[in-house]
Amino acid sequence: MSSHRLNADLHCHSAVSDGTLQPEALAARAKSNGVELWALTDHDEVGGQQRAMDAALALGLPYLTGTEISVTFAGTTVHIVGLGFDIHDAALQAGLAATRGGRRARALAMSDALAQAGIANAYEGALRYVGNPDLISRTHFARHLVDSGVCADTQEVFRRFLVSGKPGYVPHRWASLRDAVHWICDAGGMAVIAHPGRYKFTANEEFALFSEFKAHGGRGVEVITGSHGLADFEKYADTALEFGLFASRGADFHSPEESRTDLGALPTLPAVLTPVWEPLDERVMRP
Ligand code: AMP
Ligand code: MN
Ligand code: MN
Ligand code: MN
Repeated sequence: MSSHRLNADLHCHSAVSDGTLQPEALAARAKSNGVELWALTDHDEVGGQQRAMDAALALGLPYLTGTEISVTFAGTTVHIVGLGFDIHDAALQAGLAATRGGRRARALAMSDALAQAGIANAYEGALRYVGNPDLISRTHFARHLVDSGVCADTQEVFRRFLVSGKPGYVPHRWASLRDAVHWICDAGGMAVIAHPGRYKFTANEEFALFSEFKAHGGRGVEVITGSHGLADFEKYADTALEFGLFASRGADFHSPEESRTDLGALPTLPAVLTPVWEPLDERVMRP
């Protein structure tokens, strides 16, 4: 089987960030869905990596280490996935800790903003859904507002409250693109632009993102992701070729109840692209 057809799923979240399943349950789900190479990519955090790796290897599932770093670029939040790095790298761990650092203050400010909009005690509500106190995210607020009956589903919460211009949105400064790419590369991994189809960039801003990302040492882009439609698959396959980037694939699975795309349930990569797992082959942990 040629490598582009591998059922690799290199983007998902556990309860160590804003997913609902524990790393062991995700490993089992990936295995039973037919995933052949897996990475857990919790936001700004590597606390679940050892558990994910141990569980995957025990199931006979090859594993790459992963994370998804929050970055501010051109005034927008961009996500950079890191794959195949050393989870014990001190500079990477310090960088992730600094990136996580502002989340509590931001969550309190979000709660104040939601109170102004008539929704009281959202911080306390969101906290009940948090698996890792260092990693309170908008997703936890969304789960609270759904379960307390304010909205029908998490999509509606984001649309009405949690995105730029809406009452519960609080702007936040995350890591720089340069730092995030360097932390990953210096720890021996590959930096990958996550779900580029989600950002509302102009063509010039998008060109700047890809150009600067490459200049800093970034080498990959997600082409096949649960966040992309068919038009995005084609557009970012072209972008990968244009910028000479390796292509990645991952569902961005968060929860059986919320996620549209399950682990491993994505189209394969287009044959014209070179998968990220080719240059990362020696970083794959095998049973
Ligand atoms: P945060 O890191 O706290 O800003 O939260 C970002 C997370 O919110 C993303 O990783 C997604 O899991 C989730 N998210 C962002 N936009 C949406 C949306 N429109 N619908 C559902 N979840 C979303
Ligand atoms: Mn998330
Ligand atoms: Mn993301
Ligand atoms: Mn993600």
